Amino acid sequence: MAQAQEGDRFEKKEENSAPREKQLHFIEQIIADDEKSGKFGGRVHTRFPPEPNGYLHIGHAKSICLNYAMATENNGLFNLRFDDTNPAKEETEYVESILTDVRWLGADWQDRLCFASDYFQQMYDYAVDLIKKGKAYVCDMTAEEMSAARGTATEPGTPSPWRDRTVEENLDLFARMKAGEFPDGSKTLRAKIDMASPNFNMRDPVMYRIVHAEHHRTGSAWKIYPMYDWAHGLEDSIEGITHSICTLEFENHRPLYDWFLDQLGVYHPQQIEFARLNLTYTVMSKRKLLELVKGGYVSGWDDPRMPTICGLRRRGYTPESVRAFCRAIGVAKFNSTIDVTVLENAVREDLNRTALRRMGVLRPLKLVIDNYPEGETEWLDAVNNPENPADGVRKVPFSKVLYIEQEDFMEDAPKKYFRLTPGREVRLRYAYFVTCDSCVKDEEGRVTEVHCHYDPATRGGDAPDGRKVRGTIHWVSAEHARDAQVRLYDRLFSVENPDSASNPLDYKEYLNPESLEVIAHAKVEPALADGAAPGSAHYQFERIGYFYPDTESTAGNPVFNRTVSLKDTWAKVAQKG
Ligand code: ATP
Ligand code: MG
Repeated sequence: MAQAQEGDRFEKKEENSAPREKQLHFIEQIIADDEKSGKFGGRVHTRFPPEPNGYLHIGHAKSICLNYAMATENNGLFNLRFDDTNPAKEETEYVESILTDVRWLGADWQDRLCFASDYFQQMYDYAVDLIKKGKAYVCDMTAEEMSAARGTATEPGTPSPWRDRTVEENLDLFARMKAGEFPDGSKTLRAKIDMASPNFNMRDPVMYRIVHAEHHRTGSAWKIYPMYDWAHGLEDSIEGITHSICTLEFENHRPLYDWFLDQLGVYHPQQIEFARLNLTYTVMSKRKLLELVKGGYVSGWDDPRMPTICGLRRRGYTPESVRAFCRAIGVAKFNSTIDVTVLENAVREDLNRTALRRMGVLRPLKLVIDNYPEGETEWLDAVNNPENPADGVRKVPFSKVLYIEQEDFMEDAPKKYFRLTPGREVRLRYAYFVTCDSCVKDEEGRVTEVHCHYDPATRGGDAPDGRKVRGTIHWVSAEHARDAQVRLYDRLFSVENPDSASNPLDYKEYLNPESLEVIAHAKVEPALADGAAPGSAHYQFERIGYFYPDTESTAGNPVFNRTVSLKDTWAKVAQKG
């Protein structure tokens, strides 16, 4: 693989040359500068702050890897914090899945698992503080009235008729909001900032709303819930986060976070914005992923076609490959879309190093070796992983009747076809040279059986007289082969940007109807069936791709997901076109 070779060369160059200063990305540079100037007393403390309203996706992985790397590379600390301020959409199921996924990625929060809901009382006290300072007020406008009074980019908003309530009245009403005296949506607490600010976020934003709902941790204790913009900066401040890394869309929220912290006179983290990850052929918003799950367009959050961490894991991605991908794409200040082949190449490179090689035939065709003794079985040596000699060899059964891939035989083949065709000699991987003699067809002209003869002198796959063959094909012994279900995946969407304005239909219209192909009866060598327990190992089916036992797989009923094909077939298509 070109990519792998380039990587290798790069590493060798690094080894041979004098140590160079590492090229820092802009966030590393900010942290290095802060460490130099002593801005946070040399401390570095980052966090990953998911809202538990869905499963994590590969975009979150970018944020996790970045935050965790900034902490560990600077002897700092990393918190995992649930931003659980919205009881309506949050569930314990999501909390559990996020813990699993962050742990799987290798980010270790040690004893710093935090929940925003643990700070509800402190946030409430801060709000009371702002009311006392005359910086917040209870407003009786409905959501619609508020939005109508927001103003436009060129016109200031209209101040709320409740803006000048006295501090006493505000304290009383806010306490009664908390006590549950008012129905949902009837009142809010708003910051008193500037209805004429060019930044909409500063036009008296809502800090609290009334919600009578069960919270996954605090139950029904609270009847008011903090808005994201009020809560988020406070959470970072309370935890002593130094570098509060978030995605670009929060850039114009920063003045509001700063305003809150300044008015309260509390500790101030540094917010840094970076570009979110977008991938081709993928949608990344949790709302849309939830819609795909709920609408039955996929089998669940962990459907191997989903860009979720659990989907990637089930498909056979490794934590190493996801981390390598996140390193490779880097960190930038402008939005862009990464080609999904970059992700696929990352897992291909990792599995090339680690996956055990096996033989499996997806679309079986019988191959009979006419001069091979009837009833005999030979157990031949096959290398488990040429990239890692320590993985050793295994025995593969060989006999008179084998299965090969249908596409490895052609009756009338062009000159450049180096697989089986009458008169041509090929190597059966790890076994013998065979020469094709003829084939048998059914009434419809379909080939049902291929006949050949073998050269006993070529045992192991080499001819003592030095003669060469151009093709090597994989096979399994028909008598010993086991059935397996194999699931082949293609991209979930058939257009590059299902989400973009250039594709005017609803993104679901661009779902690829051929994204899943199930092969019910593939034939695999016994070692594959025996190693088919979920999570047991990653495999390369020789010449076909990398495979991983599905969560539904058992030794008796093996099910394998193709993680990725061996080569980037899409790149070839693109080159041809
Ligand atoms: P989504 O837009 O998918 O619903 P979100 O931002 O609402 O995601 P959160 O749970 O709030 O989801 O995200 C937690 C963290 O992950 C945030 O700090 C957010 O900036 C980051 N994050 C979310 N999506 C991406 C992405 N595509 N690329 C990089 N970071 C992301
Ligand atoms: Mg969010």
